[in-house]
Amino acid sequence: MTRDAMLRRAADRPTPWDVVVIGGGATGAGVAVDAAARGYSVLLLERGDFGCGTSSRSTKLVHGGVRYLRQGNVSLVFEALHERTRLLRNAPHVVHDLPFLVPCYRRRDVLMYGVGLKAYDLLAGRSPFGHSVIVSADAAARRLPTVRTAGLRGGVVYHDGQFDDARLLIHLLMTAADLGACVVNYAAVTGLTRDASGTVSGVRVRNAEGGAEFVAAAKVVVNAAGPFCDEVRRMASPAAAPMLAASQGSHVVLDRAFLPGGCALLIPETPDGRVLFAIPWHGHTLVGTTDVALPAAPVDPHATDTEIDFILETAGRYLTRTPTRGDVLGTFAGIRPLVKSGGNTAAMSRDHAMHVDAPGLVTITGGKWTTYRSMAEGCVDKAAAMARLPRRPCRTAELQLHGFAPPNPTDPLAIYGTDAAAIRRLMAADPSLAVPLHPALPYCGAEVVWAVRSEMARTVLDVLTRRTRALYLNTNAAIEMAPRVAELMARELGRDTTWVAEQVRSVKGS
Ligand SMILES: Cc1cc2nc3c(=O)[nH]c(=O)nc-3n(C[C@H](O)[C@H](O)[C@H](O)COP(=O)(O)OP(=O)(O)OC[C@H]3O[C@@H](n4cnc5c(N)ncnc54)[C@H](O)[C@@H]3O)c2cc1C
Repeated sequence: MTRDAMLRRAADRPTPWDVVVIGGGATGAGVAVDAAARGYSVLLLERGDFGCGTSSRSTKLVHGGVRYLRQGNVSLVFEALHERTRLLRNAPHVVHDLPFLVPCYRRRDVLMYGVGLKAYDLLAGRSPFGHSVIVSADAAARRLPTVRTAGLRGGVVYHDGQFDDARLLIHLLMTAADLGACVVNYAAVTGLTRDASGTVSGVRVRNAEGGAEFVAAAKVVVNAAGPFCDEVRRMASPAAAPMLAASQGSHVVLDRAFLPGGCALLIPETPDGRVLFAIPWHGHTLVGTTDVALPAAPVDPHATDTEIDFILETAGRYLTRTPTRGDVLGTFAGIRPLVKSGGNTAAMSRDHAMHVDAPGLVTITGGKWTTYRSMAEGCVDKAAAMARLPRRPCRTAELQLHGFAPPNPTDPLAIYGTDAAAIRRLMAADPSLAVPLHPALPYCGAEVVWAVRSEMARTVLDVLTRRTRALYLNTNAAIEMAPRVAELMARELGRDTTWVAEQVRSVKGS
């Protein structure tokens, strides 16, 4: 997929698209895949880079949500657990089974969590994921050698899915493109057009690279703008009451030494009544998250000092060594698009919602990364009916996603699935592209070239944040490798030294 070709298709199409999707996060990408798989013509527009919103900033779990079970939201957990299985089957190169230890320091907790997690297993039904077991304190410490053992009475080990959110997103968009969809990043929707009857008939688009504008006509528009969906709704209906409450969740990344081995940690009760995860991720330890209500969603949220301290302190209570500020290699924050339901943001439902503000415009928001597929199914059903598109059944339940390949834990490029072969060919043709970009991170130049040529990466931050995860895993290392990444990208994109300098500066300032 190349951006120039995609942009030309988007701007030059003489007839309306069946479906235009606003937003290139999990929700929009899911809708694009679903609609394209049904044979509809699809245009997806993203104002920044694909996944630059919440969808690259999650905790990276494909899960039913143990916390939601405790809140009694059985239907959400049931749906998410079934989607968890589908995602593992359809994208085994990106999603894998991960065991979690729930450490228990009171005997009654062993029983309580043991029973709760058995219910979780039962709700999942027949599933490729492991089943939960109660373990002794000794066995818990063997599974997770850094867990605090003083007072440990035992634990429960259960299983959920883990993934790389930005990588799955790119593979979803490539799936959509493989099915004929046109997907464009750095293309902002600035307004909606209407026909004589008042029905939304298309979108106004501004190309962020150069500022040119065009109109894309649509039989139906899907608003999947995540935390910004109220902004898009107001383009149709200026007085629309907000649907969303924004809540920030932050993570810190630590060295792998905090969580050696392959088991994650679930802290079942934080001081603010939530849960906290510490999970092994890309050879590091990812810890989060928080829940901080915000008056409005920022475009580029950052973890606050208070959040970082809270995460470190809470994790430290369950680990043999409390991580300090000096141990933090990277941080990131995301905004939950929570559908307003009263109460505080932690208690608000993680269910999704669909809304119609004007004929021709369907808004879909909320939900979870895990449930993007089922959300998309319902949304495309509704959008197709609204636009009177020919009725066609959803095809995504068993649709293998782009790159589909069996997991291969020994291959550092396995997450690219079948695309790994093309990246290896780049290295074979130019061995300098096989050289690691930084000794602390597992990335090489061929991945940068691939990201530009085939995954529509346009800036150094696109590569360091979303095509690779360098900036999150190790910020200093990412800053150090930025000049080489910029130089490789400049060669591919035909940019000059001024561009290279600007790009390097943008990474330092991020
Ligand atoms: C801290 C945190 C942790 C989470 N952890 C998990 C987890 O472990 N597992 C899980 O299943 N779920 C998790 N979630 C939930 C999940 O990440 C979200 O539900 C999901 O990413 C939302 O995707 P989205 O596409 O709706 O929003 P986004 O990813 O924000 O996408 C919306 C996109 O729309 C674009 N946009 C906005 N306005 C316009 C416009 N005018 N024109 C064009 N584009 C526009 C934005 O740039 C953005 O890229 C987590 C959420 C948070 C915040």
